[in-house]
Amino acid sequence: MSARSFHVWTIGCQMNLADSESLARQLLAAGYREAPDLDHADIAILNTCVVRQASEDRVYAKLEELRRWKAPGRTIAVTGCIVGKEGERLRERFPHLDAVVPIGAYRSFIEGLAVGRDPSLGEPLPVAGRTGVSHYLTVVQGCDHNCTFCIVPRVRGREVHKPMRRVLDECRRAVEEGAREVVLLGQNVDDYRDPEGGGGLAALVREVAQVPGLKRVRFMTSHPQDLEMELLELMASCDRVAHELQLPVQSGDDRVLKRMARGYQVRHYRAIVERARQLMPDLGLYTDVIVGFPGETEEAFQNTRRLMEEIQFDVVHLAQYSPRPGTFAADRMPDEVPAEEKRRRLNELLALQREIAARRAARWLGRTVEVLVEGLDELGRPYGRNREGKRTVIRRARPAGTPRDDGIGRGMAAVGELVRVRVEEASAGQLAGSLVA
Ligand code: SF4
Repeated sequence: MSARSFHVWTIGCQMNLADSESLARQLLAAGYREAPDLDHADIAILNTCVVRQASEDRVYAKLEELRRWKAPGRTIAVTGCIVGKEGERLRERFPHLDAVVPIGAYRSFIEGLAVGRDPSLGEPLPVAGRTGVSHYLTVVQGCDHNCTFCIVPRVRGREVHKPMRRVLDECRRAVEEGAREVVLLGQNVDDYRDPEGGGGLAALVREVAQVPGLKRVRFMTSHPQDLEMELLELMASCDRVAHELQLPVQSGDDRVLKRMARGYQVRHYRAIVERARQLMPDLGLYTDVIVGFPGETEEAFQNTRRLMEEIQFDVVHLAQYSPRPGTFAADRMPDEVPAEEKRRRLNELLALQREIAARRAARWLGRTVEVLVEGLDELGRPYGRNREGKRTVIRRARPAGTPRDDGIGRGMAAVGELVRVRVEEASAGQLAGSLVA
């Protein structure tokens, strides 16, 4: 009898991608086969997100779709953030659902899949060929903050920190399997504390950067209240650490920040950015902003706009506030900014950020950047990210007009290699250029 096959359908953040990867490894190690899509699988696993209503609705739509898919011998399981929010209620609403799997409780789930074999699982085992150039590794699960708009603490629980020893073992294994970059993940990764030795995120990043064979270390997501200056200094001084900060500001208005319970003021955020840019003038700065939060007056909104103009972020993930039942804001603060007004504010900031992002990208024109090659794009050109996190595509040959195509091109930029690229085109989305010998 051939092994049963599975497919993990994933939506949401990088932490969900990392969880899906871990689950897939454990299933492979237990003898299951991975199917390319749900149609070809015997076990459908949905790894879900509920951070916005739209994400949650996608999960329900998928579960509806799976009613037709379900047949004898086929199993449907749900994991991810919806489990913390809805739990077993999901099975009442979707009787064709077989298993509701809390995040990380994969071992008992796999043991529960009766396949007549011994799934003696512990840590995920090495599975050849699964690791790409970039390996996502969750070091902090859950979140101890209580931002009033956020459902994450409720659905993912309080923080659990992975011992540094295990993180390093996992990094070494990832390198053996082909990874050249590790991305350390946490909802609030700055809170990291090694439960065995007590070291914080800076200590962890320093150790990971020394793993032989690794070329780059990134981490996300940071919190302005917890980010330590020592970490910025390490980023600036260690060649292998990316110059990239994912640092959500959420609002440029102190009153709104207080209502969001973010724990910092705008001047504190500004001070972090100033120091980071002193140390790393080209820092890639990524942020999140919510518009239309309860209590966001026109003046408060304009403060956010001004902060965006002043700081000039590379990327802003913009969202209009949508109440998530179970959060303090949804339960206790009237959603008072009308939908149309939220849309106006969102569109205004989207237009502003488009201009800023194009200007920020233009700073790279004519300069040489260091790119870790991750793969080939749909046109067969090598692509990767520069040290500041910007996607960069490498042309096959030198541009027309240069003396000759001397063979530097696709063949010379192998996946996993760190190469130097002279930037010839720059847009908000990506950079493009030629290899420099
Ligand atoms: S820091 Fe705030 S926004 Fe981020 S996950 Fe925790 S509660 Fe949510």
